[in-house]
Amino acid sequence: MLYNQYIKKILLRRNKMSKPLIVITGASSGFGAEIAKLFNADGFPILLLGRRTDKIKALPLDFTNVLVESVDVTDKKSFEIAISKAEEKYGKTDLLVNNAGVMLLGNVLNQDPAEWKQMMDTNVLGVLNGMQIVLPQMVERQGGTVINMSSLAGKKTFTNHAAYVASKFGVHGLSETVREEVSAKNVRISLVAPGAAETELLTHVTDKSALNDYNLWKESMGGTTLASERVAQTVKFIYDMPQSVNIREIDIAATNQNA
Ligand code: NDP
Repeated sequence: MLYNQYIKKILLRRNKMSKPLIVITGASSGFGAEIAKLFNADGFPILLLGRRTDKIKALPLDFTNVLVESVDVTDKKSFEIAISKAEEKYGKTDLLVNNAGVMLLGNVLNQDPAEWKQMMDTNVLGVLNGMQIVLPQMVERQGGTVINMSSLAGKKTFTNHAAYVASKFGVHGLSETVREEVSAKNVRISLVAPGAAETELLTHVTDKSALNDYNLWKESMGGTTLASERVAQTVKFIYDMPQSVNIREIDIAATNQNA
């Protein structure tokens, strides 16, 4: 343990950085953008990934120690190249926030299977891709953290969410499995399971009737949903615990969310 801390210190000094590298996927909007703002304000070097880099570059950040790369998380090669580039500059990734995700509401009776595939590829395989890229060095140096963005839909069901629920139950399942596998190596795997929040998530839904039902449900609770900043604070809180403490999961939702 002491030896690892010593090595970490040397590496950080060599990179002339006081804080280690944080990688955030899906940083162009919603939760990811807020998580980026918090770590940026706290002086961490960060690698921000997403397909719409123009949106990431327009975020109100101090870009001195920010790298932005256009990465589709379903493309493991480009994901890996982006992380390698950042690690050359800032040292090994100490936190990966696997936040990128997509929610395409729809009923299995008539939803286009291409939408199921997009959710599985992004929400499940994208997360596995990220974990496989950063975990070997974390296991090797016996330190590091991965926080996966799941959902309350990763532990309970919601109408018109079948494929999304399947993908997020997948995130819960794989996170706990990998946590068990790497816990003895002092690597933390954690997840955040938010309830309904105001982001761009719903803008990709193509099924008008499913979207309408979702909006009616939100209105029935008074329309209040969770602010993205609260989810970002939750991620930061998990990371800021000592490495010897792993908050395995936090479920967070607006108080008035009834499901
Ligand atoms: P947004 O739509 O605002 O953000 C989603 C982010 O994911 C965007 O930055 C988008 O970037 C990125 N993304 C999507 N597909 C890909 C891809 N293939 N490769 C790389 N990046 C991708 O939604 P949220 O902020 O709400 O979503 C963030 C996470 O939170 C998701 O995993 C979502 O499932 C989860 N969540 C959201 C809830 C909500 O109510 N908002 C509730 C519970 C969980 P770009 O398009 O630029 O690539």
